Amino acid sequence: MTLADSAPAVDTDDAHTYDAIIIGAGLTGLQALYLLRKLGLKVRVLEAGGGVGGVWYWNRYPGARLDSESFSYGFGFDEELLQEWSWSEYFVSQPELERYFNHVADKHDMKKDIQFDTRVKSAIFDEAADGYVVETESGERFSSHLVFAATGILSTPIFPSTPGRQKFAGEQYHTGLWPKEGVDFKGKKVAVFGTGASGTQVIPYAAADAAHLTVFQRTPNWAIPLRNRPISTEEMDEIKAKYPEMFKLTATTSSGFIHGWDPTVSTSVSKEDRLANYEDRWARPGFAKWFGLYHDIMLNPEANREYCDFIAAKIRARVHDPVTAEKLIPNDHLFGTKRVPAETSYFEVFNQDNVDLVDLREDPVLEFTETGTHSASGDREFDVIVFATGFDAFTGALMRVDLRGSNGLTIQEKWSEGPKTYLGIQVAGFPNFFLLGGPHGKGGNGNAPRAMEPVFDWITEVISLISDQHIQRWEADPVAEEEWTEHVLEAGNKSMGAGTKSFFYGDNVEGKPRVYLVYLGALPDFAERLRNISASGYPGFVVTPALSTSN
Ligand code: NAP
Repeated sequence: MTLADSAPAVDTDDAHTYDAIIIGAGLTGLQALYLLRKLGLKVRVLEAGGGVGGVWYWNRYPGARLDSESFSYGFGFDEELLQEWSWSEYFVSQPELERYFNHVADKHDMKKDIQFDTRVKSAIFDEAADGYVVETESGERFSSHLVFAATGILSTPIFPSTPGRQKFAGEQYHTGLWPKEGVDFKGKKVAVFGTGASGTQVIPYAAADAAHLTVFQRTPNWAIPLRNRPISTEEMDEIKAKYPEMFKLTATTSSGFIHGWDPTVSTSVSKEDRLANYEDRWARPGFAKWFGLYHDIMLNPEANREYCDFIAAKIRARVHDPVTAEKLIPNDHLFGTKRVPAETSYFEVFNQDNVDLVDLREDPVLEFTETGTHSASGDREFDVIVFATGFDAFTGALMRVDLRGSNGLTIQEKWSEGPKTYLGIQVAGFPNFFLLGGPHGKGGNGNAPRAMEPVFDWITEVISLISDQHIQRWEADPVAEEEWTEHVLEAGNKSMGAGTKSFFYGDNVEGKPRVYLVYLGALPDFAERLRNISASGYPGFVVTPALSTSN
């Protein structure tokens, strides 16, 4: 008996037929569309949003801004694009990024292959056809040999489970679902929940406009100054001339940023020299103050503590009220053991008369009311509540799709105790299904466009084989998947962040298993691993070749 005989039949009537369906038209979805079309495939992109850009489409809150250097964030696949696009700032804001993604999509006539306002409800493997039937929420159906999940790592917003949120009669917004028409804070009583990368960006804007702002903080973060500045025409010309050098550099750093660890062991230099080094990094833009540090700061808790003390002193110097300053200094985790927010004028906000800080660890909100919040310390009234409370990261988007692989296996069953993948690219039991920047891969941990480059090189090669040789199924071997998953988890569990609560472990979402969700290995090593796999004939993958047409 063949698999096809034993599997439940999948109804393919009325389904539009494609070689590849890509779910999502963000950073990875657009690049996948470009590359797959180049291979001659008939491709359809299904996108839940009303435009391209993914996170940069949805997160349009005031202050939303890159913290990778803009010029290191653009697509690398089109030399002409690199030369024609000029970035206005070191770290551009959301509107410029959204313009960039639209420019790329228009330049390459991508939108004709993207269906917007289309959320995928299910993708069910059809054993007989060696492909998937993908159904949208509106009931439209597609059949496709290949499916690519470009669903993003931060695309499923989460809200506090505190009771009563729906009772609140004022305006409420999540930073990750910001309305296109914008939100007017002027003259209003505003609350912001959350002080992560999104909260620290939106709070200064809310503080500038609101009559009164209350920041509800559960856990302070080791936020570092972004130090944004404009890029002049001359400087941009220089950047354009040096793109080849930049790409060479980002391919050698651990996570695709332009900043690389300093291999000097911090304890091998004098304290005076170390402090001078921290000051030097501190004055630089972006993540020079993180990925440009002495590497042992991320490996040795004592070295890390000294850097924490250095940052704490910076916070104390910026916040006038010492009690407030202490509340803003983390005391439960070391620097860099969770995502470090990059801020602009964040700490100064707490010197403003119209801003209050509520420490939720001391004074939790017990419920939302019709007019605001209720806590043991009293009730507060608001016109607007902003939830900068994060995302069901890495797995949230896919776990909300009825995704079924071979023999009816669901992704919910498969990942019930945490994700299992091979290389963060495929899932055993889900043939012809590819993750782009999914859990346990490299793309979700670093400067995404650069970190995804080796994955795209590898996938392009594999898809070209599938296409040229009419391969029926390409899937991860369960043993290789098991070994990779163990390797990823071991790296995570050995890291200094192992005890820190964060979305990297999924423990920002109630009920989600606490499992490490990203791959910590260095990007050049990961790229080499992929190259070796290609060179040795794709060990760890099960390939079902085309049926012979001769009798
Ligand atoms: P986040 O890092 O998960 O932060 C969520 C914040 O909300 C945390 O302060 C969290 O506190 C708080 N929170 C969650 N549930 C809460 C509750 N029930 N009550 C009160 N507070 C609650 O999410 P994010 O700030 O949206 O950032 C997510 C990721 O998006 C970033 O790490 C980054 O990768 C990306 N991002 C990037 C940029 C950029 O590139 N420039 C900008 C923004 C975001 P706890 O810490 O106590 O859980």
